[in-house]
Amino acid sequence: MMEPRIEILSTGAELLDGRTADTNAAEIAAALGGIGLRVASTHAGGDDVDEIHALLRDILRRSSLCVCTGGLGPTRDDLTREAVARVCGRPLKLDEASLRNIRDRFAKYNRPMPESNNRQAMFPGGAEILPTRVGTAPGFAVDSDESLIVCMPGVPREMRHMLRESVLPLLRKRFPTSRCIRGKVLRLFGISESSLADTLGEIMNPGRDPSVGTAASHGVISIIIRSHGKDAERVERALAETETRIRALVGKHVFGEGEMNLEEAVAQLLEEHDMTIATAESCTGGMVGALLTNVPGISRFYPGGVVCYGDEAKMELLGVPRETLQSKGAVSDEVARALAEGVRKRFRSDIGVGVTGIAGPAGGTRDKPVGLVYIAVADGQGTESREFRFSGERRAIRLRAALTALNMTRARGSDAEEERSDGKGLTPRFK
Ligand code: AMP
Ligand code: MG
Repeated sequence: MMEPRIEILSTGAELLDGRTADTNAAEIAAALGGIGLRVASTHAGGDDVDEIHALLRDILRRSSLCVCTGGLGPTRDDLTREAVARVCGRPLKLDEASLRNIRDRFAKYNRPMPESNNRQAMFPGGAEILPTRVGTAPGFAVDSDESLIVCMPGVPREMRHMLRESVLPLLRKRFPTSRCIRGKVLRLFGISESSLADTLGEIMNPGRDPSVGTAASHGVISIIIRSHGKDAERVERALAETETRIRALVGKHVFGEGEMNLEEAVAQLLEEHDMTIATAESCTGGMVGALLTNVPGISRFYPGGVVCYGDEAKMELLGVPRETLQSKGAVSDEVARALAEGVRKRFRSDIGVGVTGIAGPAGGTRDKPVGLVYIAVADGQGTESREFRFSGERRAIRLRAALTALNMTRARGSDAEEERSDGKGLTPRFK
């Protein structure tokens, strides 16, 4: 069977003036990929019936499926159903059952149904109505000559439900495919996207199968590996081979898979080693603790931390020696070590983390510029401290410092035999 050509049409003025990013199109494309259907292109149109109609007409000339999202609401600027009715030459008709459902929904909340909600029970003649348990707008699927048009609401939560519960089953039946698509995401920290690309080299070549792409957010890099083909076993083998090659090259930076973030990776290690961690934070002001407490159930491993922004707090709460603060300065390797060791002792935890730095914009000097951060991790094996120079504005520097502190903790506890950057052999482990 020929592979069907598929396009996505999102509608709504908010998509064109920058108020809303078209996340629905991305979600729909990913979900279709999951059932072996590939999207050829995506489009966005405003709340204008002629515009939507013109886009639809062009799409239907070349494609066998158009998936629409948005413009099914009750207000006058929701015009997708009108445009669809026009393009397939099937005038809108009231569906009594849908109207009753919408009325019941309002009755359930003891509210009168506004007249304008009537419109949500109007569908092009012959359409298959896609009911909704979330929100009021039902969707629909309708044939137009050789092609199929599917319409879903724009509210992401409503769209997601309908996609999963009605649309994917419908498309599976309508466009059966033997193609299988598999994907894997590796999550890395501590390497830039460009040096990653240099290291991976031809593995990232366009057109390669499995394809390998990257995305970065606040220093966390995702490597997205995708493969497709008819034979599921072969596809999976190809995926695994590419993953092995990537791990051989940059494995020490990989902290997890899928959507895992650094705090979860640290929590997982703490659980594996049955260890606790405490934090002493100056320039990050508690961000490391805030990240750790994102993880449900972390209380077993995270007794707490100290935000020690001033020198007094560093001395009185964590026992940082006054002489060290005076001779080396608060932003120094020695103070980071003293913080990590002090907080470890104070909380009687297995691991202590200390962060001190200059987040700016003021306070930098030639010797100690804005972005200079020292991070130390202390455990039963000793204390490791590193110096970092982060760029960007204050918020970016603080977040990067907090994430780096988590990553240092992770790298210290992970089984990866990491070479230390100073060449002094292997990084010591927890315990
Ligand atoms: P609508 O169903 O067109 O009335 O859309 C309702 C709301 O859903 C809009 O105000 C947007 O906030 C959101 N929305 C609509 N379309 C999209 C889209 N393609 N991606 C993400 N959000 C959307
Ligand atoms: Mg709208």
